Amino acid sequence: MSKTATRKKIQAIRGMNDLLPEQSTLWQYFEGKVQALMRRYGYAEIRTPIVEQTALFARSIGEVTDIVEKEMYTFEDRNGDSLTLRPEGTASCVRAAMEHGLLHNQTQRLWYQGPMFRYERPQKGRYRQFHQIGVETFGLEGPDIDAEVILLSARLWRELGLAEHVTLELNSLGSSEARAAYRDTLVAYFERHHDLLDEDSRRRLGSNPLRILDSKNPAMAEMLAGAPKLIDHLDDASREHFEALCAILDSAGIDYVINPRLVRGLDYYGRTVFEWTTTALGSQGTVCAGGRYDGLVEQLGGKPTPAVGFAMGIERLILLLETLALVPEAALDELDVYLLPMDDSATGTALVLAEQLREALPELRLQLHCGGGSFKSRIKKADRSGARLALLLGEDELAQGQVTLKFLREERDQQRLPRESLAEGLAPLLAGGNPA
Ligand code: ATP
Ligand code: MG
Repeated sequence: MSKTATRKKIQAIRGMNDLLPEQSTLWQYFEGKVQALMRRYGYAEIRTPIVEQTALFARSIGEVTDIVEKEMYTFEDRNGDSLTLRPEGTASCVRAAMEHGLLHNQTQRLWYQGPMFRYERPQKGRYRQFHQIGVETFGLEGPDIDAEVILLSARLWRELGLAEHVTLELNSLGSSEARAAYRDTLVAYFERHHDLLDEDSRRRLGSNPLRILDSKNPAMAEMLAGAPKLIDHLDDASREHFEALCAILDSAGIDYVINPRLVRGLDYYGRTVFEWTTTALGSQGTVCAGGRYDGLVEQLGGKPTPAVGFAMGIERLILLLETLALVPEAALDELDVYLLPMDDSATGTALVLAEQLREALPELRLQLHCGGGSFKSRIKKADRSGARLALLLGEDELAQGQVTLKFLREERDQQRLPRESLAEGLAPLLAGGNPA
C-alpha cells in the first residue's frame, strides 16, 4: 500500500452481528432460562464443532433443499477437503451421538446451543450468522416424547411471558411410503395447474414437490389451498401417532392449530412436524420449529433410531421480547455499587475493601473505580456507571475507618458506615431493599 492510500476500515461481514454489552445481558437472561429448563427436564448439553464435512449436511438435510442448494458456507480447507459451516444443529448432533456410541441400546435427551450459518438475504430476523438452541431426543418412538418436547418449549414461552404471543402449528408427514404415494397425487394436481406454478415451483415439481406447499408466493395461494392434503393420506400407524399426540396436548391444555401445509424445509422429517409462530415479527414469524426424524440416524449409517427434536432461533426470540417490551428488570443486570477512592491515597484500601465485599456478598455487582482522575470526573463516572449506590473512600473516611454511601438514583441523604459492618449493611440492598 502506498503511503498516501487511505486505509479502509475493516467491517463485520454482512448479516453477521456483533452482540454489544447492552444486549448481551438480555441474551444471558434468555440463555439462563433455557439452561435451567433443560436441567429440570433431564436434558444434557452436547457441544459439537461449527465445521463439519460437507457431505454430512448434503446427506441429511437433502440435496434439493434451500439450505443445501444455496445457503451453505462451503469451502475447501488446505487439504482439499470440502468443509461447511454448520447451517443447523441436528446433523452434527446425530453425527456426534453415533460417533461416540451414545445411541447404543439407550435413549438420549440432548440439547445444544450455538451459531449457525446460512447465506441468506439479511433482513430483520434473518441473518447469515444466527443462533439456535435445539433439543434432540433419540430412541423414543411414542407420541409421549413428541409431546414432551412441545411441553418443554411451551413452558419456556410461559416463563418468558410469551405464551399468549405464540401459536403452535402441527402437522403429520406420515411414513415415507405414505409420503411417496401422496407425492404422486400432489404432482398430478400440480400438473393440472402447471400454468399457475412459478419458476421455483416448476423446478421443484420433479425433485421436491412437497416443498411447493411451503411457497409464500401470493399468486399461488389459492391453488395451494385447494391441493390435496397429506394429512388425509396418512398411513394408519402415523395417523394413530398423530391422534395420540393431539390427545396428550389436549389433556395438557396446550392449544394448537393443525396446518396441513406445514412441511418444513429439511428432508429428514417424517410423522410429527410443528412450528411455533408469532405475528409480531412480520414475515420472519417462526421462532421455533421441529419434528420427528426417525430415518436420519440410519440414513447417516447408524442403526434405525427414532428421534424427535426442535430448534429455536435466539435472535427472533430476543427481538420478540424487545418488541413486546417483555424484558424484565433482572435482564438489565445493572451494577449495585460503584466503589470510589476519592484520591490516589485511597486506592489500596479501596481494592482490599472491594475484594472483602465480593467475598462476603457473592451476589453483589460491584465495580471499582480505576484510572484516577479529578474528584469531579470520578463522581461523573460513578453517575454514569448505572449503579444504585456509590461508596466513597476519602481521606476522612480512611482516618475514621468508615465509608460514605451516596445514593445515585434517589433523593436521599448520604450516610456513613464503619468499614467492618459494611457488608452487613449492604446485604439488604441485594435483596431489593435499602441498605441498613
Ligand atoms: P425460515 O422459514 O424462517 O427460513 P427455516 O425453516 O429455514 O426458517 P429452521 O431451519 O427450521 O428454519 O430453523 C429453526 C429456527 O431457526 C427458525 O424457526 C428461526 O427461528 C431460526 N432461523 C432459521 N434461519 C434463520 C436465519 N437466517 N436468521 C435467524 N434465524 C433463523
Ligand atoms: Mg430458511
